[in-house]
Amino acid sequence: MKILVVNAGSSSLKYQLIDMDTETVLAKGGCERIGLDGAKLVHKANGKETVILSPQPTHNESIALVLKVLTDPEVGVIKSMDEIDAVGHRVVHSGETFDKTVLATADTLKEVEKLSDLAPLHNPANLIGIKACQAAMPSTPMAMVFDTAFHATIPAHAYMYGIAYEDYEQYKIRKYGFHGTSHKFVSQEAAKYLGREGDATFKVVTCHLGNGSSISAVKGGKCIDTSMGFTPLAGVSMGTRSGDIDPAVVEYLCTKKKMSAEDCMTYLNKKGGMAGISGVSSDFRDLVKAKDEGNARATLALDMFSYQCKKFVGSYAAAMGGVDCIVFTAGVGENTDCVRKDVCSDLEFLGIKLDEQKNLERNNGKIREISTPDSKVKVLVIPTNEELVIARETLELL
Ligand code: ADP
Repeated sequence: MKILVVNAGSSSLKYQLIDMDTETVLAKGGCERIGLDGAKLVHKANGKETVILSPQPTHNESIALVLKVLTDPEVGVIKSMDEIDAVGHRVVHSGETFDKTVLATADTLKEVEKLSDLAPLHNPANLIGIKACQAAMPSTPMAMVFDTAFHATIPAHAYMYGIAYEDYEQYKIRKYGFHGTSHKFVSQEAAKYLGREGDATFKVVTCHLGNGSSISAVKGGKCIDTSMGFTPLAGVSMGTRSGDIDPAVVEYLCTKKKMSAEDCMTYLNKKGGMAGISGVSSDFRDLVKAKDEGNARATLALDMFSYQCKKFVGSYAAAMGGVDCIVFTAGVGENTDCVRKDVCSDLEFLGIKLDEQKNLERNNGKIREISTPDSKVKVLVIPTNEELVIARETLELL
């Protein structure tokens, strides 16, 4: 069984073809600059990279190109597209409409279209990708795997905001959470690694720390809280996103800087976070380098980040009535040792003891245990694999 995983953005489309019998990636790649000049496709298979420069006015041409390269006699990995048994699509927002993976049908697509209001940058682009795939492969089943679905188990007392209840009812303003496929994957891998699969008492805090970051509390395999909210702007400060701030700051900023609410959202999404604080970069590699060179604002940005993550770890331990495991994943979680060290520092009272030497070892693509043998709470670094979750969910649905 071979499943094609597609993640369509507004001007990009990433793909992986996965053999589900062995869960091996046969090929992966992406189209960039769709609808713009200089569109290209980068394809990797059998240890070889192929770059194809080809105009892609719409996602239809991109999908056609992906199918062509996958079936190419030289660089392809399948003889014909009939070998693709199903396609799993990443869809960002499921609102309150879907709490699990669904088949893409005329009805479900219409529902996702209605949710575009909640994710105007993502859902429309995801839909375009699905429709382009359906046009190219009309008889292949397509699944929609939602970023928000893993968070559907969060109870009302955790997802509600303190606003008038009628506005929640009418506008569906509440916490949704994001990065669900990643939190699901790493929490399941942690349970497997520690022999706690199916254990309803297993409590894990998953820290997905990348350019965008979110932290979740997962108890017995179910998410009970997460740091992102109505949008991915909430939670800890991120690469360029502010994270949680007092909502009154929005009005104050609009008045002082003569901005519209829309401009203010762009400001908080693009000019805040690590980039805004440090004035150096949104990239943690640059921040760590600047800190090592004595840059005070880069140091402040990193300190803020670790401090905020630490507070989520503590509050989620309280929310779950304890914690058995902390997982670090994604670009920063997997690679930036000083962040992991600072997040875990002074948490011995919770039973968290980091092995500083193990923490310094490089990411090797496998699960790494970085707590001391006598640490009550296990601290793990687990490489995330969102594409594999999408493929597994698609297979399960079929
Ligand atoms: P996103 O998927 O949200 O764009 P990633 O999970 O790819 O983000 O994380 C990107 C972040 O990870 C960057 O800030 C980058 O500096 C940081 N990072 C640190 N070390 C590495 C590394 N060795 N490889 C890749 N990213 C790294």
